[in-house]
Amino acid sequence: MRALPIGKLATDGWLDGGGTCSFIWSRAGHRTGDINVTAAEGHVVLSYRSRSTGGDWQDMKYPVQIDRTRCHLGGTRAWFLCPARGCGRRVATLYGGTVFACRHCHGLAYPSENESRRDRTVRQADKLRERLDWPPGIFNGSDWGRPKHMHRATYQRLEAQYDELEARALGATMDWLRLLK
Ligand SMILES: [Zn+2]
Repeated sequence: MRALPIGKLATDGWLDGGGTCSFIWSRAGHRTGDINVTAAEGHVVLSYRSRSTGGDWQDMKYPVQIDRTRCHLGGTRAWFLCPARGCGRRVATLYGGTVFACRHCHGLAYPSENESRRDRTVRQADKLRERLDWPPGIFNGSDWGRPKHMHRATYQRLEAQYDELEARALGATMDWLRLLK
């Protein structure tokens, strides 16, 4: 999971300046992801590229609203409002993921009652993730590799199935995101 802490953006009045900055995540010296964040009036715009294993790169770009609270000792503190529909929690850090959202949203269990197309696809994807020994949640990416006990052919078949499911779940999830216009 890539963490995007607002503390990195809120320094030196950067949020008010209207500029763009880039974050790069790395693991063991290898670059694992990057994101551009552009400051605007009352929100920031996240833009980055995302892809499932073996899939095409997809350009992601959407706004996240910023809220401010007054500090006890004066001044204000900035927060992200989680962009997932029906959430809007005030949080200091967003996590990605295919989509950046709060910790709570990434850990959400999807209720089986009143099941929408998205819920169903996401649950199927999670079942497959379980078979692959990957952590649950389509936001958690698909570069976890083959479980030691699994035959290569089985893995390739499941991974292809998963990629298709994830693409469908991602499409439905983009509709689900509450976008600021
Ligand atoms: Zn959330």
